[in-house]
Amino acid sequence: MPKTILAVRDLTKIYQMGQTEVRALNGVSLTVGAGELTAIIGASGSGKSTLMHILGCLDTPTSGQYFLADKDVSTLSGDEQAAIRNREIGFVFQTFNLLPRLSALENVELPLLYAGNRQAREKALAALALVGLADRAEHEPNQMSGGQRQRVAIARALINDPQVIFADEPTGNLDSQTGVEILAMFKQLNDAGRTIIMVTHDPKIADFCRRRIHIADGKIVSDG
Ligand code: ADP
Ligand code: MG
Repeated sequence: MPKTILAVRDLTKIYQMGQTEVRALNGVSLTVGAGELTAIIGASGSGKSTLMHILGCLDTPTSGQYFLADKDVSTLSGDEQAAIRNREIGFVFQTFNLLPRLSALENVELPLLYAGNRQAREKALAALALVGLADRAEHEPNQMSGGQRQRVAIARALINDPQVIFADEPTGNLDSQTGVEILAMFKQLNDAGRTIIMVTHDPKIADFCRRRIHIADGKIVSDG
């Protein structure tokens, strides 16, 4: 059995909308081990992003438990969550979420600077080289293609050597050829031992992953 990276038990998330409650997650339990490449799939509105935000310590559940690297994170304060998030988790989003006025290099450096790391520049350059963008370090996001921007985002996600990388619809804003290239990059990172969890409504992306967790109406309906 590989080391457990994260485990959730009976996660529930209820959004209160005026008089009505939206039960975005309804009793989700799952365990992810080191080195897994997992897709969380489901229709729009099924709760995928909500689950990813909780797993990524961007949001807290209404009830249930969450253990990340053997720590109970469901009870942490906002500051403690932010520290864990910066140290243990890398994010890749559909819309890249790069800072527009910063170069590729500066975008990748940022999480290291937050962590007070002094070799930030050197490490950021190495991460850019890893995603094939050594020659684009000084480019700003609007001087790069969508695929290149997403590779910068992947370099940024890797920079703190996180326990797990979350990607929410990482190919959603890319043409299909570029999407395939980005998926190949995730596959390569996974082959090198990275634990990756991708969230998608696209069955083609899901087919790429060894493990597929299907959610509908805030519940896991299949896992395998
Ligand atoms: P998915 O990512 O699978 O499309 P979401 O996790 O974004 O689904 O949403 C799950 C459900 O929760 C949906 O019914 C959505 O409308 C609702 N929801 C998501 N975010 C919020 C929010 N901030 N406030 C209220 N309802 C929300
Ligand atoms: Mg979503």
